[in-house]
Order: sequence, then structure tokens, then C-alpha cells
Amino acid sequence: MSGDYTETEVIVVGAGPVGLLLAGELRLAGADVVVLDKLTAPTTESRASTLHSRTMEILDTRGLLDGLGDIPNDPAGHFGGIPFGLALPGPYPGQWKVAQTRLEEVLGQWAADLGADVRRGHEVTALTGTGESVTVEARGPDGAPTSLRAAYVVGCDGEHSAVRTLGGFDFPGTDSERELLRADVAGLDIPARRFERLEGGLAVAARRPDGVTRVMVHEYGSRPRRGAPSFEEVADTWKRITGEDIGGGTPLWVNSFGDASRQAGHYRRGRLLLAGDAAHQQMPIGGQALNLGLQDAFNLGWKLAAVIAGRGGEELLDSYHEERHPVGQAVQSNIRTQALLLLGGPEVDAVREVFAELTGHEDVRAHLAGMISGLDVRYARSADDPAPLGLRLPRADAVGEDGGTTTSELLRTGRGLLLLAPGHEARREELRAAALPWSDRVRVATAAEAAEGTDGPGGPGGAAVLVRPDGYVVWADGVSAEGPAAALERWFGPASARTPRPAAVREPAAVSAVVPAARERRSGTERLAGRTALVTGSSRGMGRAAAIRLAEEGALVAVHYTSDEAAARDVVASVERDGGRAFAVRAELGVPGDVDALFGALEADLLDRTGSTDLHILVNNAGVMGGVGPDDITPEQFDRIFAVNAKAPFFLIQRALRNMPDGGRIVNISSGLTRFANPDEIAYAMSKGALEQLALHFAKALGPRGITINSVAPGITRNGSPVFDIPEAVEQMASLSAFNRVGEPEDVADVVAFLATDEARWITGSFVDATGGTLLG
Ligand code: NAP
Repeated sequence: MSGDYTETEVIVVGAGPVGLLLAGELRLAGADVVVLDKLTAPTTESRASTLHSRTMEILDTRGLLDGLGDIPNDPAGHFGGIPFGLALPGPYPGQWKVAQTRLEEVLGQWAADLGADVRRGHEVTALTGTGESVTVEARGPDGAPTSLRAAYVVGCDGEHSAVRTLGGFDFPGTDSERELLRADVAGLDIPARRFERLEGGLAVAARRPDGVTRVMVHEYGSRPRRGAPSFEEVADTWKRITGEDIGGGTPLWVNSFGDASRQAGHYRRGRLLLAGDAAHQQMPIGGQALNLGLQDAFNLGWKLAAVIAGRGGEELLDSYHEERHPVGQAVQSNIRTQALLLLGGPEVDAVREVFAELTGHEDVRAHLAGMISGLDVRYARSADDPAPLGLRLPRADAVGEDGGTTTSELLRTGRGLLLLAPGHEARREELRAAALPWSDRVRVATAAEAAEGTDGPGGPGGAAVLVRPDGYVVWADGVSAEGPAAALERWFGPASARTPRPAAVREPAAVSAVVPAARERRSGTERLAGRTALVTGSSRGMGRAAAIRLAEEGALVAVHYTSDEAAARDVVASVERDGGRAFAVRAELGVPGDVDALFGALEADLLDRTGSTDLHILVNNAGVMGGVGPDDITPEQFDRIFAVNAKAPFFLIQRALRNMPDGGRIVNISSGLTRFANPDEIAYAMSKGALEQLALHFAKALGPRGITINSVAPGITRNGSPVFDIPEAVEQMASLSAFNRVGEPEDVADVVAFLATDEARWITGSFVDATGGTLLG
């Protein structure tokens, strides 16, 4: 074995759409994941291209539809080649056409942005389990062996799954009895054929926008061949069935697929799991296989991540098999029926006629459309469960405290949702309070109106529904026999105080009752969800950028200012526009009573918005420059600089520590001038030097509480001062930085945000040079 050894939490085998969606879901919920694929590059083959309604909703829920661009929609569908309208009410009726290669690109980028480690050219050769972990042996791109260990391994590696074979899963079912030959051919000019049943067989021809024609052909009574067909065989069969000659076209991709139907007896064996075609093999009719697989991944991701984080047990993980195996079974049975209707010879003509008649009935059409679109999936715990339990939450308008959005967007960050009904004031407050200990995992918002199909949150008369991260209702007020706390505990783990806190998912005590609209977050995750932050002097400059950045990460931010209320309100509005949460708080610093004034206002607001006065993050940013040389500075000016820049931060920290839970974060904004001489700013630099001492000594004192404190030293940073409007001055200032530009407030805000996250837990008492290389000399 080589020295290449990796340890992670989940290994996903297979970087197709199912594996990539699963990887993204795992990362979104905080689990580390490595994806292995034996191909050295993403496939360029045009495999499945149909997305059904439920899959579209899933992609919408994660904000992935925009990336797919303009997706052609076709309301028409078929069942075994018998045409019928597939559209059901909902935001994405009918079928949607996206090349699998494009879908993979978008999912791959999303998973990578979230931090999934995708390794291509790795073929899995062995799996060994210890009870505590699984070791995967793989052959790397250069043929060298690699070894990886993880808590769980998921096979998303298709119908010839190595994980399924090596993991000893049983895979019962039937072999192919019929097959369709398929070829993508350029340079053809033949009529379109939509499931045309001709005398000798079935023919399909569809020209894509790029001019390539996909032909599919089956000769009644023919048996499946061994191995892939040649283009000549496809052309010969086509000629026999249609009389057309396609032999002069240029074949781009030729294959065949049969009607074999197999399903793993169990989707989980200890620490091994299967999803997608690895778990179920069926004829790829109408794109159902891809959709089924994506929905497997969406069901599994959040559950597996919860188990890894210690927020869920065996029961939660087993619910994956319990919920998805019956869905797979139902899809396989509809596909087998369709294969029979599609590829059967004249002996099925009578059955087809009856089916065609039946599809004329609205309820039959709706039943078939529900099945094919995935909209009929129901994860009820018992067959007697009344609606809306187990049903998906349809997209509806909902209102967070800070504005309107949709239920899909509220689920975007992968947390659950307690959706309150309008009205029901007293009961709503009760439920809001009940969910508070889970606020790091469950958002609370109010539906704008009754969500279609659920008769309003909680069903008739109910005040709320509880929705899992994959969008299915698990509890409804007035319908469920148990109270909300029992459902919250079952699906989201113990209430915060008792939740184990592995590093990757460490969250503070519950804070936010209503977290509003999702927005485009740079990282795709909210690393500071459920936390509160105070940024002093955040009406403009770096403080403003830091406040916005912390809010992007999910923190509720107090925007502090002293004179410019309009500017502070503008920061709050900007945060809210992006779906974040912030409020303004005024207090002049460097004057007697400053700290009490600030905390008096701050605590009242925190209590109001979160039910607690906890403050998790303090950024001491407010500061004043001197700009007066050592010969001219007066004692009053000197005192003022020290009062605002050094004394106020000291007493703010002293006071904030009363509100700060263990694991809190303090960041002080110092200056590169503590290491770079500028005689005009001696007093200012001295005050920042004093500020830096705070970090050194407090760090030691606060270590036992897991609180970190660090100094960030910006260089010359654009802050709206008129000097930044003078090109010559900017050029001269830029020349001081190794990057030959002045800093932007966001350059420093990103550093502050990082220090505020759990990822910076091992850094304390540090001087962090954020001068863009100015101190390099
Ligand atoms: P800025 O644009 O000068 O804004 C200063 C902020 O602090 C404003 O929000 C202001 O509020 C607030 N503030 C000032 N004096 C205050 C007082 N006595 N009480 C309460 N609030 C007060 O800020 P910046 O240039 O982004 O600088 C932010 C921090 O970085 C400061 O600590 C500064 O020393 C440090 N720094 C700046 C640079 C740079 O080149 N910009 C370089 C190194 C370090 P109002 O507007 O409401 O009055």
C-alpha cells in the first residue's frame, strides 16, 4: 500500500448526479465527504435527460435551477409509449429536459463549492469494515493503490456497483428479456417518430436542437444480445423496422438497454449504503431511474450527516431504507409494466387499447402522473397517518420576520422548518418557544397563506407543520398525536443543551426563532447560524463589511454606530435585502457610561429577537485616527484616541463576557501601523498597540472557556474617505501593498468572519496580518 491515506466521514463512490447531489447534501449538513469515481473525467455521454416535477422541486430547494439555465419543458408524457398529459398542479409541471452532462456540471460545482473532495480516476477494489469504520482500497489514476477510511461508505456507482458487490448486498430480480437499441447519430434527415409501433417493432426518432438525432429501435420477439451493439446492427434493425437507411449518418454514441429489473434487498448493510442505480436497476424509461436516484440521495444526505454529528441514531438512518425501498419497488413495477406495453408485440395490443382508454379518465391520469413525477411519494410512519403527515410541503409563500420568501427558499440551507399558519397568535408563540432549543437545526417562519395540498400548516385549524430538510411533513399541529418536542427530537436530535457537539457541527445555544429568506451565500452554508454578533462602528467602512459578512454566514448582527443613523439603517436594510438579520444600536464610545449605554440597548434588542441576551461574537472595530504629529498632539486628543481605541474595547470585552457563552469569539481591529512606522500616527499606533495586548493576555484567561480573541491588522483600506477619490493618492497608497492595490473593506471582513467561525477555534491571542503584504517591506 502507498503512503496515501485519507480519513473522512463519508466516502461516496460514484460522481454521477446521484453521488454529487449526495455529496452536496452531506456538506450542507456539515459532514466531511470524499467522492471517488473510476472515470478520470466526467462522462460526455448523453444519458438521461429528463427531470420530473419532484426533482425540479428538489433542485429549486437547493437553489440549483438558475445554474441549469433555460430548461425546455414538455407537458406531454407517456406510459409505455401511450401518450398522456403528465402535468400536475405545482411550480414545475410536466417533464424538463436537461442533458445529464450539464446536470453533473452544476451539481459537481455546487458540491465542490460546499467543500466536497471529488477524486476522479479512483477505482474501488476492496472494502473492509471494523464495526467502527470502513476502509476502502482503491486504484488511483496512476495505478497506485490508495487507502481511505470513513465512518460510512455510500455506493452511488450505478447498476454495476462495486460497493454493492464488494459489500455483499443481495440484488434479486429478473434478467433482461427485451432490449432497445439506441444511437445518437449526426447527419440524418429522417422523420420524427414518437414511440411508433410498426409491424415488425417499435421505432423512436427525435432530433435534438444540436442537429443530432437519437434513434431507438426494438424488433418484436428479439432477445437481448451480449455486449454493446455496433452501429451497423442498429442501422440494419432500423432498416428492417422502418425501411429507412440511416447507415450514412455519423454515430456519436451507440448502446442498448434491456428491461432487467433488480433491487437490493436492503439499502443499508451496517456502515454501507446504496443509492440510485446501485440500489435498483430498471429499464431507463421516461427518465425515471435518474429521478429516483436523485430522490434517494436527497432522502439520505441529511440523515447520514445527522447520524455522523451525533444528532440521530440507527432509527433515523434505517428510515432511509424504510422510506426509499418501497418507492423504488413501486417505480420498478410501473417501469416493468411500461416495458411490457412498449416492447411487447401484437399480443399486448389489446392491453394497450384498454390502457389508452383509462388514461382518458382524469383520476387515472393524475394517478399515473403522480407516480412518474414523484409527487405522489409519501413517507408516512403508518398507513393510517392522516394528511399532511408524510407528504411533501408544496412550495408556498412564507414570511420570515424580515420579509417574504417561499418555503423552498426557507429550506435552502438544509435545515428543517417549523412553518406557522397565519393567525393562531397564542398557539404560534407556544410552538415558537417549543422549537427554540432546536433553532440551530430548525427555522421558524410563517406561511403567507395555506400551503396548497396541506390545507394550511397543521391541516384544518392547525397552527403549524414541521418539515424535514428534504421537504416532507413529519408533524402537524392538531393532527399528530404527539407534541412538537417529541417530533423535533426524533427528526432533529436532542435539544441544544444536550446535543453532542463535534467540531464540524458545533453550534451555540438556541437563539433565533425566525430565520428569514435564504439568499445567495458565498459559501453555501451558514457557519454562524444561530449566533449573535456585535460589530462596533459598523455604519461604514470595514465594520459595515464585517457586519454584512457575518450576517451572510447566518448571524444576527447588531450594527453599532454613533452619529450616522441613516448609514447604520442602510447597513441593516442591505442585510435584510439579502435575507439576513440585523438591527442598529447607537452609543458613543470613549465617554463615561458608554459600555452600559451600548449594552442596555443591545440586550433589550437581543432579548426581543431571540429570547436570550447571549452574545456569541464581539468585533471591536470602531476607532478614530489621530492624524496629528507628535509635536502638535494635545493631551485631550491623546486621551480621546486611547478612550475610543483601547479603553472602550477593554470594557466592552469585560462587559460582553457576562453575555458570551463558551466558544465565543472576540476580534479586535488593530492596524498595520503597530509594525510600520508613521510618525504622524504615533498616538494612534500606541492605542492599537495597547489593543493588541488585550488579545495576548485575555486569550490565556479565556482559553478554558473555548473563547478566542485575536487582533486583525488591516493596512490602508478604502473606507469612503475622500482621499480614495484622488487617483494619485490611491496609486501611492497601493504601492505599499505586495498586491499593488489598496485594501477593500471586504478583504478584511472575510478575515473577521473566518475568525468568528468554528474553523478558527485553534487560533487565539494572535496578530493576524491583513495588510495585503504591506508589512513585508
Ligand atoms: P471608518 O470608516 O472611519 O468608520 C469608523 C466607524 O467607527 C464608524 O462606524 C463610526 O460611527 C464608528 N466610530 C468612530 N468613533 C466612534 C465613537 N467614538 N463611538 C462610537 N463609534 C465610533 O472606519 P474604517 O476606516 O473602516 O476603520 C475601522 C477600523 O479599522 C478602525 O478601528 C480603524 O482604526 C482600523 N483601521 C483602518 C484602516 C484604514 O485604512 N481604513 C487601516 C488600519 C486600521 P459613525 O460614523 O456613526 O460616527
